[in-house]
Amino acid sequence: MTAVSESEERRALDGVPKQLYIGGEWRDGGEGGTLPVEDPSRGETLAHVADAKPQDAVAALDAAAQAQPEWGSHPPRERGEILRRAFEVIVERTDELALLMTLEMGKPVAESKAEIAYAAEFFRWFSEEAVRIEGRYVVNQTGAGRVLTTKQPVGPCLLITPWNFPMAMGTRKIGPAIAAGCTMVVKPAKQTPLSMLAVAQILEEAGLPAGVLNVITSSSSGSVIEPLIKDPRTRKLSFTGSTEVGRALMEQASEQLLRLSMELGGNAPFVVFDDADLDAAVEGALLAKMRNVGEACTSANRFHVAGSVAEEFTEKLAAKMGAMKVGRGTEQGVEVGPLIDDDQRSKVSELVHDALEKGATAVVGGRARDGAGYFYEPTVLGDVPGDARLLKEEIFGPVAPIAAFDDEEEAIAKANDTQFGLVAYVYTRDLRRAFRVCEGLETGMVGLNQGMVSNAAAPFGGVKQSGFGREGGHEGIEEYLETKYIAMGL
Ligand code: NAP
Repeated sequence: MTAVSESEERRALDGVPKQLYIGGEWRDGGEGGTLPVEDPSRGETLAHVADAKPQDAVAALDAAAQAQPEWGSHPPRERGEILRRAFEVIVERTDELALLMTLEMGKPVAESKAEIAYAAEFFRWFSEEAVRIEGRYVVNQTGAGRVLTTKQPVGPCLLITPWNFPMAMGTRKIGPAIAAGCTMVVKPAKQTPLSMLAVAQILEEAGLPAGVLNVITSSSSGSVIEPLIKDPRTRKLSFTGSTEVGRALMEQASEQLLRLSMELGGNAPFVVFDDADLDAAVEGALLAKMRNVGEACTSANRFHVAGSVAEEFTEKLAAKMGAMKVGRGTEQGVEVGPLIDDDQRSKVSELVHDALEKGATAVVGGRARDGAGYFYEPTVLGDVPGDARLLKEEIFGPVAPIAAFDDEEEAIAKANDTQFGLVAYVYTRDLRRAFRVCEGLETGMVGLNQGMVSNAAAPFGGVKQSGFGREGGHEGIEEYLETKYIAMGL
C-alpha cells in the first residue's frame, strides 16, 4: 500500500452523509447540534455528524414501527436481493470504506479492509438465509391433530454497536434483521459513526424501503436509547459492547420484557500445551492479540503456557511484537495503529503498571508513546502473578501477559477463572487432549490451533458474563424470528 494523500482522505470523509437517517430521509437532529468525530492517530477533529436528541430517536422508532407491517410481509427473495446488492457495493467500495474506517477508528488500512470483507459477508450470508426461513408440520401424538409452526419477524429492533468494529458489528445485526423482515433503529458508538452512515447510504442505494433502517448518531447514548427501550413498539434489543452497559440495558429492557441479544466483554485465555507446534502458536498468538490493535472482544487477554515451553514462547512472541511498526493506519507498512482515545490508553497503562508493580517483567514495550495520537507500544509481560488485574480485566490494547502452568487440569482451571466466557484459544497436537480441553472450557467459542474464530457462517457469542445470543451462522437469523404454533384439529 502506498501512503494515502490528504485529498484521498478528504474525499473519503466528504463522500459519507453526516446526518441522521430516518424514514428514508437524511436530516439534521431536531435541535441542530452536531458531534465531532476524532482521528485517534492525531487527536484532531475529522468531521461533525448530527447529534440526535430523544425526540429524534422517537422519530426513528416511529419510522421503524410504521414500516414494519409491509416489511414483515415483503417477499423474502427481495429482502435477500437488497442485501446481496449491498454486499456487492461494499466490496466494490472497499478502498474508500477502509480509508474512512481507519480515519475514525485508527486500525491500519489493511485491517480495515479485512473488517470490510467480514462485514460484507454478513450481508451475503443473510441474503441467502432470507429464503430459508422454515416452519414444521407434524402429526401430533394422538393422530387427531396437527402441529404447525411458522416463523415471523420479531418486529422493530433496537441495535446498538461499539466502536471497535464499526462496520462488522453493524452488518452482523442489520443483515439478519433485514433478512427476517424486521425494521430497526441503529445507534453506532459516537467515536465511529461514519462507517455506519456509509452502510446506511449503501443500503439506501441497494433499494431498502424507507423506514426499514434508521440510524441515529448521538453524543448522549443513554438519553436517546432509554425512551426507545421503554417504548412498547420496540420488540428487541441487540447490543454489542461492554458487560457493564449491557447489564444496565437489560435492567431497562425488563420493563417491556424485550427479546435480547447481548454480545458483551471478553477475557480470552490463550492456552499453549507443551506438545503444540510452537511456531504456529506464536503466529496464532500474534493474530489473536494484535488484530484490531488488541481492541477486540476476542483478543487473547492472557497467555497460559506450559512451563517447559513458556520461555521459548515468550521470546518468540516478544521478538515478533517488538518488531511491529506502530503508526498512523494510513502509512505504509504500519501494523499497529493508535488506541481509540486517551481514556482507553490510560486504562491500558494502568493495567500494565499494576502488573509490573506486582512483579511481572516487561519483556518488550510497556509504555505509551509520546506525542500526538493515542499510541501504546506492543508489550509482552513475563512472569505475570496471579493477582495482576489484567488477568481478570479486559485489556483492550496491545499487551500480552504470559503466565506458566504445570498440567492440563491447572490450564483449564486458570482459563476458566474469569467471569467472562466469550472465546478461548488452545494449541495442542494431541487430539484427545484437544477434545478434553475444548469441552472443559467455559466459553461460547474455541479457536483450536487457530488464532481467529470470526466467520459469518459460524455462531458467534458467549456464555457467563460475555452475554447470550448468537450472531452469524444459521443461528443468527433465529434471533430476529418468533416461532408461532398453530394447533390444527382435523
Ligand atoms: P460500551 O461503552 O458498552 O458501548 C457500546 C455501545 O453502547 C456504544 O454504542 C455506546 O454509545 C452505547 N452506550 C454506552 N452507554 C450507553 C447507555 N447508557 N445507554 C445506551 N447505550 C449506551 O462499549 P465500547 O467501549 O464501545 O466497546 C467495547 C466493548 O465491547 C468491550 O467490552 C468489548 O469486549 C465489547 N465487544 C463485544 C463484542 C461481542 O461480540 N461480544 C464485540 C465487540 C465488542 P456511545 O459510545 O456513543 O456512548
